[in-house]
Amino acid sequence: MSMPPLASGPQGPDALRPLLAAVLDALDTGARTRGGPLPAGGPHAVAARMRDAVGDLLPEHGDPGALPALVHALAEGAADPADPLCAAHLHCPPLAVATAADLAVLALNPSLDSWDQAPAASELEALVTRQLAKEVYPDTPPTPTPDAVMTTGGTESNQLALLLARETLGPTVRLVRGANAHHSLPRAAWLLGLPDPVTVPAPTGTLDPTALHNALTTHPGPHLVTATAGTTDAGLIDPLPDIAAVCRTHRARLHIDAAYGAGLLFSDRHRHRLTGLSAADTVTLDLHKLGWQPIAAGLLAVRDHHDLTALHHHADYLNADDDTEAGLPDLLGRSLRTTRRPDTLKIAVTLKTLGRTGLGALVDQVCAHAHHLADLITAHPRLELHAPPTISTVLFRPTGATDTTVAEIRRRLLTDGHAVLGRAHLHGRLWLKTTLLNPHTRPDDLAALLKLVEGNTPT
Ligand SMILES: *Cc1c(COP(=O)(O)O)cnc(C)c1O
Repeated sequence: MSMPPLASGPQGPDALRPLLAAVLDALDTGARTRGGPLPAGGPHAVAARMRDAVGDLLPEHGDPGALPALVHALAEGAADPADPLCAAHLHCPPLAVATAADLAVLALNPSLDSWDQAPAASELEALVTRQLAKEVYPDTPPTPTPDAVMTTGGTESNQLALLLARETLGPTVRLVRGANAHHSLPRAAWLLGLPDPVTVPAPTGTLDPTALHNALTTHPGPHLVTATAGTTDAGLIDPLPDIAAVCRTHRARLHIDAAYGAGLLFSDRHRHRLTGLSAADTVTLDLHKLGWQPIAAGLLAVRDHHDLTALHHHADYLNADDDTEAGLPDLLGRSLRTTRRPDTLKIAVTLKTLGRTGLGALVDQVCAHAHHLADLITAHPRLELHAPPTISTVLFRPTGATDTTVAEIRRRLLTDGHAVLGRAHLHGRLWLKTTLLNPHTRPDDLAALLKLVEGNTPT
């Protein structure tokens, strides 16, 4: 029996070429078989098709047809964020150039827990994290120097932000967050064993600075306040400068969760909405949302790189003191993970290929789509718009429908495989949610989306 070829090494590219061709063909046939934004039939039918495609998962003798068969099955059963009618979540269609870059990472398989596993990748990570830290903190004087670390996404970034706050302020630090904050924040407080978080009501959808002031006055500190730039449900941005001022008054630490909104930094037109971001001690960014990266592409930016010393860690086989003294970069303190893939190649390729103008144009495009959709809804006699969009999220519902009907419309569209819409409870009612992240979407697609909703609304 011949040995299966490897992805890297002198034979790697030649071994990969026909396999990649097979993958691309199967992606194509799978998507054609699906024929829409997601597979029809609902969970039971999709699961049954997958079970059929897999068959005997560990046969006695191998099957060389497994690659095309399983890729076809996965593509056939995928919810494709590149379909304009797949618009529920902060689930972006990745750029082809970013995905191609990630393929190189998969083949080379560098691991960022020590320099001898990732000599060039470690320098690329340093360059990308420094650049993005500078985007978040452009106005910081020479000291403190900002920095950033890569994460698996907003959830890990938020956990790290709480950990750094605990290491700075001690184990009694109390999380104070708006009711609009991401669920991963109180979960991180639970994980880290912090005191029970304080939830500040956010009846308008954003964190009210006066209510925050009252909460900080009432509850004993030290405090870590978290604000959101781009709420998951509605894409709203908390009043960052006012919140930063309240935090200064109370000497509270500030974390801003910009998992969604940070992408606005690339747009000349929309960057001003993030004014106040650089007042935060830490900022969560997620370029697998408004950044068109394949998952994962999270970051935590810190205003003062000294905060990251809390992550320093020693393991003799990875960062022995004499190796570090001899000049081998010490990478272990850049993450809580050990084996770690470089998520920075795809980001670097994207930043450099598109430039600030190219990325900004994508941001402007999806924000413009949201405004267009909102206009269509406003002009529609039987649809109600929640509010004009702030970023690229639009909430709406059929006028007069019950919450049960709204939920059923969403599920019917999912089951039929016609559209992927999200849901959000706001102002005591359930809304259909569209998160527009596809720059290729056309006005006709948005009109078609509303027609589908209308066609599935009982009269
Ligand atoms: C998506 C999101 C997160 C979580 O990010 P993941 O990448 O899914 O872990 C955190 N905060 C906000 C505001 C988000 O929208």
